[in-house]
Amino acid sequence: MSAQTTPGRRTWEAIRGDFPVLAQSIHGHPLAYLDSAASSQMPQQVIDRLVWYHSTQHSNVHRGVHTLSQKATQAFEDVREKVRELINAPSLHECIFTSGTTESINLVAHSFGRAFLQEGDRVLLSALEHHANIVPWQRICQEVGAHIDVIPINDRGELLLETLDELLTERTKIVGVGHVSNALGTINPIAEIIERAHAREIPVLIDGAQAIAHLKVDVQALDADFYVFSGHKMCGPTGIGVLWGKERWLNQMEPYQSGGDMILSVSWEGTTYNGLPHKFEAGTPSIAAGVGLGAAINYLQGIGFERIAAREDELLQRASARLSEIPGVRLIGTAEHKASVLSFDIEGVHPHDIGSILDSEGVAVRAGHHCAQPVMTRLGIPATARASFAFYNDDEDIDRLVAAIYSVKEIFG
Ligand code: PLP
Repeated sequence: MSAQTTPGRRTWEAIRGDFPVLAQSIHGHPLAYLDSAASSQMPQQVIDRLVWYHSTQHSNVHRGVHTLSQKATQAFEDVREKVRELINAPSLHECIFTSGTTESINLVAHSFGRAFLQEGDRVLLSALEHHANIVPWQRICQEVGAHIDVIPINDRGELLLETLDELLTERTKIVGVGHVSNALGTINPIAEIIERAHAREIPVLIDGAQAIAHLKVDVQALDADFYVFSGHKMCGPTGIGVLWGKERWLNQMEPYQSGGDMILSVSWEGTTYNGLPHKFEAGTPSIAAGVGLGAAINYLQGIGFERIAAREDELLQRASARLSEIPGVRLIGTAEHKASVLSFDIEGVHPHDIGSILDSEGVAVRAGHHCAQPVMTRLGIPATARASFAFYNDDEDIDRLVAAIYSVKEIFG
């Protein structure tokens, strides 16, 4: 029996119907939204939860004795437990709310860097990283006089792990690597990287921004040291993200930002910091977005991560086969293990022109360097067009993409 017809399971068509944004027209064409790697869409269930929160529960958290504040605090803290369960974190206080992946990595680079990096030390990143997992490390390395090493890739966009033993030096203090590349879709062998780094007692940060909505993540099975992600890439709102870190490291790190909530007591003589997780959560958090993230987790778990991964792989395989049949279209990033990101270019056409023409036909893709300029430089290209698929996409979206690519080819002769 196919996944579509298994009793008790909602069809993909019904699931697509949960996303009101997909039911609109763009430039007179039905929207084919193929930019979920940049930001996924929110189902009605998440939107309803946001409305309910704003209508009945909104107040500041952790501070009030009054009922509404307690309700908001409860709703927000319930999401921390959902996050813990989602990634199988061993404890709740290791799950820190941030504004997103970027802030999570900045926090680690700043606070871990100041605690553990010294002049001459090394940070090991991969050639596939998003700028968010490069620039914060460049800044802290500049500050303390440390250096960055890079795990190289092959032409298919796969990490060359045979270089790892040489790159994991006695001075390497941390490794930072993406679980899934946003530019090429490569699923990196993070379990092996973590194991090999740990053999030398080097901690590893995993940028899970592109993985969290697509793969089941278990930070204990992975034995990662830090795992970070954003709510808006997993059918939740913008403005909320997560840093999970092992208590062992977090306890040795100084706060990132300072102010309310991250303190136990303040006097003119000095301040005592709060414990985890609040030590790293200064000021009023994005409460509503947090509550929305909780609803998004419920929603994704309701469908099931294995089912989501299988569906997205099906869409990726189908789209890859269709695009590779089009003369002049080149797929960029052909790793053996890939998530549903399809980067491509068309001979003689700049990717920005591809993006604009596709948009004029209602097909939303991203064009550019995808905040991964070193990847583009390594592959010798300025940019790519990128179609990224989520479980709410369908075959018609692929047909529309293919038809719009033929329009581009027609226009550019
Ligand atoms: N890391 C990766 C791999 C990403 O794809 C992104 C966003 O595209 C980020 C980090 C940054 O995420 P955010 O902008 O939500 O902070």
